[in-house]
Amino acid sequence: MARYPGLSRFLTEYTWKVQHMPPFAGTKSMKVRIRSFFAILALVAVLRPLPAAALDETTRRLARDIFQQLIEINTTDSVGSTTLAAEAMAKRLIDAGFAREDVAVLGPNSRKGNLVVRLRGSGGPRKPILIIGHLDVVEARREDWTTDPFQFAEKDGYFYGRGTQDMKANDAILITTLIRFQRENYRPDRDLILALTADEEGGKSNGVDWLLKNHRDRIAAEFVLNADSGGVTTVKGKAVNVDVEASEKLYADFQVSATNPGGHSSLPVPDNAIYHIAAALGRLERTPFPFELNAVTRSYFERRASLEAGQTAADMKAILRTSPDAGAVTRLSAHARYNSMMHTTCVATMMSAGHAPNALPQLAKANVNCRILPGHSAEEIRQELGRIFVDPKIAVRYVDDGGTVYDRTPEKKAFPSILPPAEILKPLARIADEMWNGVPVIPSMETGASDSIYTIAAGLPSYGINGVAIDQDDIRAHGKDERIRVSSYYDGVEFYYRYLKALTSPQ
Ligand SMILES: [Zn+2]
Repeated sequence: MARYPGLSRFLTEYTWKVQHMPPFAGTKSMKVRIRSFFAILALVAVLRPLPAAALDETTRRLARDIFQQLIEINTTDSVGSTTLAAEAMAKRLIDAGFAREDVAVLGPNSRKGNLVVRLRGSGGPRKPILIIGHLDVVEARREDWTTDPFQFAEKDGYFYGRGTQDMKANDAILITTLIRFQRENYRPDRDLILALTADEEGGKSNGVDWLLKNHRDRIAAEFVLNADSGGVTTVKGKAVNVDVEASEKLYADFQVSATNPGGHSSLPVPDNAIYHIAAALGRLERTPFPFELNAVTRSYFERRASLEAGQTAADMKAILRTSPDAGAVTRLSAHARYNSMMHTTCVATMMSAGHAPNALPQLAKANVNCRILPGHSAEEIRQELGRIFVDPKIAVRYVDDGGTVYDRTPEKKAFPSILPPAEILKPLARIADEMWNGVPVIPSMETGASDSIYTIAAGLPSYGINGVAIDQDDIRAHGKDERIRVSSYYDGVEFYYRYLKALTSPQ
């Protein structure tokens, strides 16, 4: 975690030399030794709170104030408003000198506003970069939490509050960065557009989708940086790697149903809707989708193997061979995360059946949720489910976000899987080297879903990138007592400042 690896190595060596000087060097030189030892301690103390050394006090205060303000504006779907958060950020940007026409709060209704701001570039030929983040947060109940989830709190080196991890830290970081650029009068060589949006976590007014449909011109860009994914993985505060989300699985829900004339439960017959569904789901459970790697997951396992040891490292190498080792695939598949990276997954998530305790069921249905590997469409998977169930009594229908059910999947999109270009990766690797002591940058595939599904579907290459470090075993997004290390937050502030500059300054 040394921000100045060379210097701290020098200091360690020098401190060692001072401490091991011959003991009888005379009083004067003893004093010098003591003085220089303390001078070094002081230097180390100045350098050790690494983020503090990088950020000036004004920026720190600004970054903290914005973060606090965002946490304390409730943006849940049930009672909150992303409009209030978007307007508060718009005001800060205009106060900092952004032209009014470059800052807009747009949305389908008064509670689901989205902020779109443009930092004008120097007018070069390159198309803008769009950066996205969501303002909404998952519900949080006061009684479940130790602190009030909608009060920003600093305790034991952490910031607490709903959205500290997911993802108001990065929203605040991006607003801070644009304000810093504006204050410095920094002109990027292309426009930077930031969209902070509604309903990523749920709700019916997804802001990215809405902006793409209603204000495409305002967010037209060459590619997208999504600050909601990627990030720095740490173990007990020590950086292990920097993730870049380079690809995403496709999300699809299917309704699996069986109907039956039913009848009196005192006269059962073998043809029973519930049994049909139960048998079908049993077959689904026993039939994994085929093992498959793509450019992104292949490179992920290649790099990950070098960070692992023993059987796991060997297995990761074995699945990369031209004929992948079946035993290795099975062993890695026992790990939910690796399993989800190697397979399309479909899992039963909801069920309902029957209409009375003393009647044979006329309808039984289940929701099967699929996360589909790049290169495959939802319709292909719908048909595959039919083949797995091998039961003509069972219908498999596609269900869209709004709950509408279709016999065939109307959209046939299949996401591509492409590794991020050098333009994205090179500056990222350089900054990872400067800030996190050269830990590897690992492109990965999002196995859940982020707002990148909309931008990817709209044909915009999208990369999940941010510089906030979260401990591998301290992931509290959506959970209770959500928190982020204070130092991680300020590192994240510094990261986006450096990264956006690297992307928009002619080399
Ligand atoms: Zn999120």
